Amino acid sequence: VGGIVKEPPMHIVHIAVEMAPIAKVGGLGDIVTSLSRAVQDLNHNVNIVFPKYDCLKFEHVTDFHFQRCYSWDGTEIEVWFGKVEGLSVYFLDPQNGFFSTGCVYGCGNDAQRFGFFCHAALEFLHQSGFHPDIIHCHDWSSAPVAWLFKDHYMHYDGLSKSRVVFTIHNLEFGAHFIAKAMVYADKATTVSHTYSKEVAGNPAIAPHLHKFHGILNGIDLDIWDPFNDKFIPVSYNSENVIEGKRAAKKALQQRLGFKISDLPLVGIISRLTHQKGIHLIKHAISRTLELNGQVVLLGSAPDPCIQNDFVNLANQLHSSHADRARLCLNYDEPLSHLIYAGSDFILVPSIFEPCGLTQLTAMRYGSIPVVRKTGDWHTVSYDFIELLFLESFRKCTNTVFRLLLPQGLYDTVFDVDNDKARAEAQGLEPNGFNFDGADGSGVDYALNRAITAWHGARDWFNSLCKTVMEQDWSWNRPALEYIELYHATKKY
Ligand code: ADP
Repeated sequence: VGGIVKEPPMHIVHIAVEMAPIAKVGGLGDIVTSLSRAVQDLNHNVNIVFPKYDCLKFEHVTDFHFQRCYSWDGTEIEVWFGKVEGLSVYFLDPQNGFFSTGCVYGCGNDAQRFGFFCHAALEFLHQSGFHPDIIHCHDWSSAPVAWLFKDHYMHYDGLSKSRVVFTIHNLEFGAHFIAKAMVYADKATTVSHTYSKEVAGNPAIAPHLHKFHGILNGIDLDIWDPFNDKFIPVSYNSENVIEGKRAAKKALQQRLGFKISDLPLVGIISRLTHQKGIHLIKHAISRTLELNGQVVLLGSAPDPCIQNDFVNLANQLHSSHADRARLCLNYDEPLSHLIYAGSDFILVPSIFEPCGLTQLTAMRYGSIPVVRKTGDWHTVSYDFIELLFLESFRKCTNTVFRLLLPQGLYDTVFDVDNDKARAEAQGLEPNGFNFDGADGSGVDYALNRAITAWHGARDWFNSLCKTVMEQDWSWNRPALEYIELYHATKKY
């Protein structure tokens, strides 16, 4: 890493389909923006090529203007330019309606839409005379860039020095696309060390281990900054974390219609899919209420059956526990900031989690993560496994059970009672509460200890809030690892 500073700046172009805050569905959107910003801050040149969805949050785009038109495959494509969080973004607007559907995903022909976009994006780089050092693509949705580049573009003069980096954020989706991109990419990464080891035996990955690396995701310290956050009432850092969080909790209680009182508050911010441990989320809500705590869930389900199920649960809870339980079943970025700041605990009971940003953001706001650490499938009902299997693993391989671990949670959350040595080996203090297994008793084990400590050892708990805030889960280190990897593509 030391030698890198002497290297000339590189030009990196991301081709991606999610980007925070203009079109974020989950962690992929956060990472495209925050990794790009971190690398740009280290004086490299970074551009994003992005679909011009009709549902973009245009209020976050500045200097937005039309640039030019080109055509590819018989379709006119308008190119628009804009700045998003300080990044230069080229928006492609093909006049075939592919991105005028009111959504990012869920059109039935997503593979066709994004396949078209990937090809159009490479064509744009070629026709515009770009000479990037690195073309970085992400997950199944921009995986085609890897092979389209090698098949059609690498022989053009302007692009002959470009190398392709492919990042797997989640192997669950689009296994076929991912396998093919692994063959063609010059380097590939995934989002935590443990996940890279877990998936190493997968047939899509195994032949390519020589070019495959785990680099932990980070969070963007400017976007997630309790000292400078317009969605929370009092600015705070680790020096005044207790005062700052007290004010945020009061504002959150007011906003949710809760009783304003000194009760432990558990927050959950999650897409509601089986990956995220829906049955454990429900269990944790009722356990928190039994322990006389308050609980807020912010989440939405792409599957209407799951969404409906939560709407019913919300109706029940909002009448039985109006002053202590609130389910906000939509996507609400500002509210997420207030929940990160105003909660004592953030629960992440994912069944698997390649990295996970929620627990990292929680710590940045001085909230204590309560997470699932390992799997124990003997305790899960057959029905549940079948459901999970059907939903998520239809296309998976013989490594299916190895994939069922919340890898990123294991890498980043160290239990205050059980993981002292493991934390020390990372040069860290323990920072949260973990549980094993995938049933309610695991959740109880972690939540009981967390809430008991909150009641009985408040000084210790307050110092834990300060400790987690001071841990560095930013891009400071991972960005250097990416730059090193970008350089290494040239030697490959
Ligand atoms: P995934 O990418 O699998 O959804 P991550 O933990 O990597 O999971 O990232 C989730 C991101 O989405 C976090 O930034 C989290 O705060 C955010 N998020 C999830 N659900 C919501 C919601 N309903 N409203 C606002 N933000 C949400």
